[in-house]
This record gives sequence, structure tokens and C-alpha cells, in this order.
Amino acid sequence: MIADNLQRVRARISDACVASGRSPGSVALLAVSKTFGSDAVRAAHAAGQIAFGENYIQEAVEKIAALTDLPLQWHCIGPIQSNKTRLVAEHFDWVHSVDRLKIAQRLSEQRPAGKNPLQICLQVNIDGGANKAGIPPEAALELALQIQSLPNLQLRGLMTIPEPAADFAAACAVHAIARQLFDALNASGLALDTLSMGMTADLEAAIHSGSTMVRVGSAIFGARTYPNPV
Ligand SMILES: *Cc1c(COP(=O)(O)O)cnc(C)c1O
Repeated sequence: MIADNLQRVRARISDACVASGRSPGSVALLAVSKTFGSDAVRAAHAAGQIAFGENYIQEAVEKIAALTDLPLQWHCIGPIQSNKTRLVAEHFDWVHSVDRLKIAQRLSEQRPAGKNPLQICLQVNIDGGANKAGIPPEAALELALQIQSLPNLQLRGLMTIPEPAADFAAACAVHAIARQLFDALNASGLALDTLSMGMTADLEAAIHSGSTMVRVGSAIFGARTYPNPV
């Protein structure tokens, strides 16, 4: 079932690329395995999936430990408290949810010697939700420049989680704001290659507006049976 679902998601991604005149290889798929066990990850890996996203650090660390026999790539996409940065620095390959300098500094200091630099995206609050995680768009350049100067981190791009939109056009409009910010940062001298946006419900709109990585959970693994504890 997971293999079939993955096949369908890959087809959605390539159809969306073709529909917007993009190359099907230009959008990466991150399989969001939060709340699902290591068996589900194994099944997805057997169907060719390498990159997995997790929100809850403790849950992720246990899963990662149970799967060290597979060559997987782990992305942290959930909120990070200061007291969890060491676990993140030790166990993950990517972090999409950096939204303040202090967290980045701790990740940099705590990245074990000998590991590749941790790959970083800044989480941007693109639609201005009052209680939402993420930096305001106008703060992105300054934080990006600060993070670029830290050792053991490699700044790759931006991540967004917009509110559900009313329809395709509305979703595209919000994602387009993120893409404009991404392009503006690159025009200011950054070399970002990753725009992490789009989930099960809105991946077509995100790809239409220039996403380079979609994060898909329920369309691959099924509905989650326990809610987000955040
Ligand atoms: C859960 C989650 C996803 C995947 O959501 P689906 O709607 O199940 O595809 C993507 N990104 C983040 C940050 C998430 O927390």
C-alpha cells in the first residue's frame, strides 16, 4: 500500500511539474513519517524513498536508531526547543525549522565533529499568522547572513507552512510570495537551492509556484491516528 501511495505521489509531482513547464526532476519528495513506525519507513525505503521528515525529536531519534541499517536521510521539520538541539545536531541531516539565531548557534556548536554540515532551511511565516512559528519575511536576510557565518551548518533555503487555502489560486498566491522571497534572497547574494513548501493538500500549487521540495505525509502513509502534540 505504501509503495502504491508513493507511486501516486510521484505521479502527482511529475504531473504538476509538466503542467507548469518544469522538469520533473526539479522537485524532491520528502516523505513525512511522523507518527508512523519504523516498519512504515522500511516499506517506503523498499519502494525507493530515501529522505524522511520527522516533527517530534524523541520519536524521531528512536526511529532513526531502529533504522541505522538503511542509508536514509533524516529531515527535522518540527519546532525545536533549545534543550533538544543536541539530539537534532547528532541525529539529523537537515533541519527545515530554524527560526532563530540561538537555535542555529546551538546546532552549529553541537554538530559532532566528522559529520557533514547540517543542512539548514529557515522557516518563514509567509502568511503572517499571529501565533505561528517562523520568522517574518523581512527578517529572513539578516538571519540568513548570520547563519551563513556559523561553522558546521550549510544554509540551503526556506521552509513554509501556510494556512490551508480556499482554492488552487489562493494557494498559489501564498506560495508565490515565498518564491519571490527566495529569489530576492538569491539576488542579494545568497546561494539558496531549496524551497521547502507544499504538503499532501497543496503540493500542486506549491510546485506551480516554484517549490523545490514537497513534504508529504498522509498521501504516503495514510491518515495519522494521533494528533500533533505541539
Ligand atoms: C505533518 C507535516 C507535513 C505533512 O503533512 P501531510 O498533510 O500529511 O502531507 C509536512 N510538513 C510539516 C511541517 C508537517 O508537520
